[in-house]
Amino acid sequence: MHDFVDLRSDTLTQPTPEMREAMARAEVGDDVWGEDPTVQRLEALSAERLGKAAGLFVTSGTQGNLISVLTHTRPGQEVVVDYDSHVFNNEVAGAPIIGQVQMRPTKTERGFLTPEQVRDAIRPANIHVPPTGLVCIENTHNRHGGTCCTPEETAAVAAVAHEAGVPVHLDGARLFNAAVALGRPAADFARPVDSVTFCVSKGLSAPVGSVICGSAEFIERARRWRKLLGGGMRQVGVLAAAGIVALERMVERLAEDHANARRLGEGLAKLPGLRVDLASVQTNIVILRVERGAAATAELVAGCAARKVKVHAMGPAAMRCVTHKDVDAEDISRALQAFRELTSRW
Ligand SMILES: *Cc1c(COP(=O)(O)O)cnc(C)c1O
Repeated sequence: MHDFVDLRSDTLTQPTPEMREAMARAEVGDDVWGEDPTVQRLEALSAERLGKAAGLFVTSGTQGNLISVLTHTRPGQEVVVDYDSHVFNNEVAGAPIIGQVQMRPTKTERGFLTPEQVRDAIRPANIHVPPTGLVCIENTHNRHGGTCCTPEETAAVAAVAHEAGVPVHLDGARLFNAAVALGRPAADFARPVDSVTFCVSKGLSAPVGSVICGSAEFIERARRWRKLLGGGMRQVGVLAAAGIVALERMVERLAEDHANARRLGEGLAKLPGLRVDLASVQTNIVILRVERGAAATAELVAGCAARKVKVHAMGPAAMRCVTHKDVDAEDISRALQAFRELTSRW
């Protein structure tokens, strides 16, 4: 039990005591000079977990996706994405601004482009059109509520792109949540794609950072783009040390977050005026629609805060609750109690 029940995001997780200890003890060097052994250990461990040849430690998931787009594409090309994807909605138009690529969004059911949609979105060779440079997919899908797609679905989409000579990037900010939820090794999801980014800073609870994994040649070129973006860091092994603990100790426990999200979702779905699509509660995110609209949503957020439960409004009539290691089963009971009180007279 915690002072506040903070369901706003899994980015709010505090580093564990073991992480802080590893950070204090980390052997470090200048990573731009290729001399930080702790960063190299994290990159090698990440690559191994994802079945790729090499890894690159970057400042954030946003930087990881941007570097990946820059490394795969040329200016004037188009990037095929899902309409609700993070890279299209939440990365400040970095790819169009810095990479000079056009985004090609397509609406999907649960956040996942089908092979047919990818086939339709890839441009034919024609003087009028921007050539397709990349397909970018997301797993788990943030805006669709932490939904997962399987390695087989990933492979089917990648096959269509590869047939057309187009590479595929996987925004796997929460890829380990998908791996744990579906009981499959993370490498199974990464195998069909050319590059993948995951965050150590979300449910895995490290304070900072993401890792891009891909071929050795891809990562070598990505390293130049990281430097260009100002992401070349020096004795950054102090941060990578926490990332190593994240990968070694924090992956299996994501199952607890999923169980807590499930219980929260099922409890909220029973309350009047709230709607939860339980089929989309597959990992650690619960999206809650408030039938009474914007004012009621704002009241709920404020009422929860007064009861020491922090939740995040998502648009005018929805909320997002995210479970993570700093929310335990008792906290879920407290959150449900707060919502029960607030909706009791609806
Ligand atoms: C959080 C997130 C990112 C970006 O990660 P930051 O470290 O916050 O920049 C990218 N993609 C998805 C799907 C995310 O949820």
